[in-house]
Amino acid sequence: MTQAVVLFGSPGSGKGTQANLLKTCLKVPHISTGDMLREHVREGNSLGVKVASTMQAGSLVRDEVVNHLVEERLAEPDALEGFILDGYPRTRTQAEHLCGWLDGRGIREVVIHLIVDYNVIVARLAGRRQCPRCGTLYNIVSNPPRVAGVCDLDGEKLVVRDDDQEPVIRQRLAAYESQSRPLIDFFREKGRRLYEIDASDQSPEALSFQVCRTIQSPEVRQPVSPAVSTNDH
Ligand code: ADP
Repeated sequence: MTQAVVLFGSPGSGKGTQANLLKTCLKVPHISTGDMLREHVREGNSLGVKVASTMQAGSLVRDEVVNHLVEERLAEPDALEGFILDGYPRTRTQAEHLCGWLDGRGIREVVIHLIVDYNVIVARLAGRRQCPRCGTLYNIVSNPPRVAGVCDLDGEKLVVRDDDQEPVIRQRLAAYESQSRPLIDFFREKGRRLYEIDASDQSPEALSFQVCRTIQSPEVRQPVSPAVSTNDH
């Protein structure tokens, strides 16, 4: 059975951190559209040049571009047994595209919606630092590196992502509210397997334990199950 997991949630809800913890537990690759797009921007290739200003403004890259990128990535051999999608789908067009792709292959995904309080999200994003070399994420308050400003893993100087500047954070959250949040209803209406988990207060490890337990529960592994909520949000 292909293990397809979609991590869904607002920017700053911890999708990337969870995906990193989950990939060890599930032994499937972590596919982050944000990381893939940033890689193209770093390389300065034609795609990177095309999307750089959109990303810097905190707006969403065009659906055709992202759909194509994801389809190509899912065709790679390491994704045959499964994958964790982080940051995709983010619009209705992307969700329809992905559902068509999955249904065409008889793959039943699990969508995990990480619910985080708005104020917690803003604080997280404003305090976020990233290693430009290995991509490891830190937070100056909740998850600081051992030495201030320096990556624990490779000693590289940490940076604030361009799109973690405050006005851009606001734009990213607005894009989430208008284009991505409505997908919760889409997943429900289409009877996709949706699980909602409160991710505001728990440590990343405790949350990952809960996410893993949800994904691997017998209920999720059954052939057919309706959209389910694990809390009242
Ligand atoms: P976050 O979830 O914290 O906003 P990401 O790394 O997932 O960060 O995304 C960074 C940026 O990359 C987004 O603001 C957007 O410009 C672009 N992006 C990533 N994924 C998508 C997507 N599925 N559709 C359109 N744009 C995307």
